[in-house]
Amino acid sequence: MGSTAALFLARGGMSTALIDRGPLCREASGVNAGTLTLHMTRAALIPYAIRGWEMWQAAEDWLGRGVAARAVEGLSLAFTEAEEDLLVQRARVRQAEGAPIELVDPVRAREIEPGLNPAVRRAAWCRIDGFASAYLTGRAYRHALVDAGADVREGATVKGIDRTGRGFTVRMEGGETLAARRVVLAGGVWLERMLGWLGVHIPVKCLVNQLVVTERIEPVMRTVLSIANGLLSLKQFDNGTVLIGGGWQGIGDPDMGGREAIPENLVGNIRLACHVIPALRATRMARVWLGLEAETADALPLLGDVPGVPGAYVIGSVHSGYTSGPWMGRLLAQHILGAAPEMGLFDPARLLDQTPAGQETGEAIPL
Ligand SMILES: Cc1cc2nc3c(=O)[nH]c(=O)nc-3n(C[C@H](O)[C@H](O)[C@H](O)COP(=O)(O)OP(=O)(O)OC[C@H]3O[C@@H](n4cnc5c(N)ncnc54)[C@H](O)[C@@H]3O)c2cc1C
Repeated sequence: MGSTAALFLARGGMSTALIDRGPLCREASGVNAGTLTLHMTRAALIPYAIRGWEMWQAAEDWLGRGVAARAVEGLSLAFTEAEEDLLVQRARVRQAEGAPIELVDPVRAREIEPGLNPAVRRAAWCRIDGFASAYLTGRAYRHALVDAGADVREGATVKGIDRTGRGFTVRMEGGETLAARRVVLAGGVWLERMLGWLGVHIPVKCLVNQLVVTERIEPVMRTVLSIANGLLSLKQFDNGTVLIGGGWQGIGDPDMGGREAIPENLVGNIRLACHVIPALRATRMARVWLGLEAETADALPLLGDVPGVPGAYVIGSVHSGYTSGPWMGRLLAQHILGAAPEMGLFDPARLLDQTPAGQETGEAIPL
């Protein structure tokens, strides 16, 4: 998200440096499942996700090179009565936010996705869905940023940011400093720490998401599939591999990174995938990896001004943030450049001194 904000700031005529301690987009933005979805994103983010989806489909036009984005249909599924109730509820709130989602019966669902388990009770169909290859993201952005004249500094770890009379001094590992009139914090699960550099405390929870990819197999599915309870996302890439996700947790934290898969969670995730597409039962798992995803107390983004620190901005903690990320970054750039953004931002001040996500007593399954 920081890369998109930097790109549109540089194109807007602002002298822009992008500092990342690793290669660009090699954390969440490079290791995610690449699903470009309205089914799984928070309902309040649907209008943003639609614009993000459109941007990814046209990435060659505005980014210069694509991320192998594919537009396919998406089905969210219900196999139990409880899932069916949830499916209907989730479809309604998404429709109200502008998602072109329709409820379909099992016969229609299996016309759309013939490999589906016949035990499906009901499905929500969305024509706006798809996927990309997230590992291509950094390469695309690096080229675009350099072409736009941004100063791209990879392998540069920021240790702190000091406020000065004219803006900020960014301190990097090794002692180098950079003076800036404005700063954008875009550090994913490390945002809580970064906000702390400026004396602001907003809790940011770290999710350790597991993903599984299979060996290459013959085509077994053509859509993006998910389950109403959010515990599965499934798609098959053109090379035949099937990517299985759904937010099942592994072991890790912002300091250690994603360290270890939890075998029971892998088994649970894979069982669900095989339940949904029975042809997967004969398939071998090729690789498992983990990535860190940020979440605020209300599971909505940090997008806008850092409270009480003029000239400092923050972007991150966006649910299904790969889908809407380009649009979110562009909105923040519009705001910083002084234009009225085309859609509302998500004021970070609402989250000051709030209970960290996961400790609240709110809804059990998010809409
Ligand atoms: C496994 C997984 C699967 C997911 N699947 C999907 C999906 O299918 N669809 C979807 O829409 N979303 C998905 N998401 C969510 C999505 O990937 C994230 O919302 C989004 O990529 C977050 O982008 P970001 O720029 O905020 O964070 P990041 O991409 O994590 O970027 C943060 C950057 O900050 C840098 N940084 C941190 N500390 C410092 C420092 N001190 N100095 C310099 N640089 C620093 C890091 O190196 C990193 O590059 C998934 C997330 C994960 C982890």
